[in-house]
Amino acid sequence: MQLLIDGQWRDSSDGATLEKISPVTGKKYGDFPAASKEDLKAAIDAAYDAFPKWSSLTSKERSKYLYRAYSLIEKDRKELEDLLYKENGKVKIEARQETDGVLDQIQYYAEFARKITGDIVEGDTPENKIFQYKVPAGVVAALTPWNFPAAMVVRKLSPALLTGNTVVMKPSSDTPFTAYWLVKKFVEAGIPRGVLNLITGKGSVIGDDLVSHRKVAVVTMTGSTETGQRIMQKSSANMAKLILELGGKAPFMVWKDADLEAAARTFIWAKYWNTGQSCIAAERLYVHQDVYDRFMNMVVNATKKLKVGDPMTADMGPLINKGALQTAEKFVKDATGSGAKTLTGGGKPELKGDLSGGYFFQPTIMENVSQDSELFQSEVFGPVIGAMKVSSEDQMFELANDSRYGLASYLFTNDNTLVMKASEAIRFGELYVNMPGPESSQGYHTGFRLTGQAGEGSKYGIEEYLKLKNVYVRYSRDRLKVESVREDIFS
Ligand code: NAP
Repeated sequence: MQLLIDGQWRDSSDGATLEKISPVTGKKYGDFPAASKEDLKAAIDAAYDAFPKWSSLTSKERSKYLYRAYSLIEKDRKELEDLLYKENGKVKIEARQETDGVLDQIQYYAEFARKITGDIVEGDTPENKIFQYKVPAGVVAALTPWNFPAAMVVRKLSPALLTGNTVVMKPSSDTPFTAYWLVKKFVEAGIPRGVLNLITGKGSVIGDDLVSHRKVAVVTMTGSTETGQRIMQKSSANMAKLILELGGKAPFMVWKDADLEAAARTFIWAKYWNTGQSCIAAERLYVHQDVYDRFMNMVVNATKKLKVGDPMTADMGPLINKGALQTAEKFVKDATGSGAKTLTGGGKPELKGDLSGGYFFQPTIMENVSQDSELFQSEVFGPVIGAMKVSSEDQMFELANDSRYGLASYLFTNDNTLVMKASEAIRFGELYVNMPGPESSQGYHTGFRLTGQAGEGSKYGIEEYLKLKNVYVRYSRDRLKVESVREDIFS
């Protein structure tokens, strides 16, 4: 694979490469370019130079490129699904769902053409108006994570391009090949030179220079809170607009009147979808004491039946890398050391052949874990969770809100009053009531506390890529008097 700079596919200027390891086997998957600082600068310059022409097109014209990319991706979608399986370790159904999501998002944002509106506001004097225009911000630096390596790329690219911005895309070093495949489709769709650039390489090496560059107007990053905090510090240099979608620690709440079967099905999805590597994954389980035993039996028995292994045939695939596997192991070890009981899972599954080197971990449920433990406070981002009994509504909401993160939350109940109470009490960007996620393109994906800033999806997410410009116009034929300027100095 290669970098895309100013419409040219090229290797890194110093020939440096990085190795991508397959999560399924633990063996080398391929090499990709490690962009140099010169490559980065060239990509930003190209995006900056392409901005005036691209931003002067109508959104209707720009949307045509998105529709063309949509058709090309749809035609070759099996290739993308295969890549998601091989590079990321996604199970078959999840690779298909993510590809559906990619297409859905491109379509959703393309349909926003001609829907961006401004305001005309009356001025403070007669015959005076204020025109409030929404204009593209400029060069967008888009940094994506590996957990939804295709969906996250288009969730940033599509609104940025539709609204007239140009882009420097920097995907995760764990999934550069998926981003490369998608960017190639946009190029095939005819996206003009310089409008979209692809840079790969370690964020820790080139990230600071990218997010602080004076020609970068917006930084949109989905990833960890630590990276988001660093970006905030570094981009104080250019005052870039920030869209930061960071960590999560979703509480999964089951009230005593809930449809337990629906709650259990949703829990299995919410905890193990993408091997627990999702920002909206259930990370804490709070169950009413009256139904705790019944519910736990249901989810523990179901969890035991999940097949872990080759993503082509299994229910749950591997973690993304060795570090993620070690993190899962550490959460279990530390919780066990503090007196937690493992109800199911807790270690690596026995797998044979090539898979024995893969980063697999058993789906794991623990109990006797305290609210202030690491398992209840830090993001696991893997298939491990702790469960706790609750006895009152207020206690459940208080425990749920007691988190550094505030992205998704789940509630199962048939009590409408409780639903309304929760929607007021819960301090999270998303509350899923009696249903699973994930978020929709027309929802605004956003979080409270350390989950970040701004959001993605819906008209609110699109507006993050725009600046509001105010033009004050006086159109009176009467002679203009400026109150604080003496009339006689002009006589
Ligand atoms: P990450 O390590 O923070 O990386 C995210 C992106 O930032 C990658 O492209 C990474 O590049 C880059 N990066 C790293 N250091 C940087 C720096 N100093 N400056 C600029 N960019 C830098 O996160 P991840 O491990 O890929 O993703 C997992 C995290 O994402 C979890 O915390 C999860 O909750 C969160 N997430 C949130 C959402 C949401 O919508 N809120 C959705 C999905 C995931 P390299 O790969 O080269 O290091």
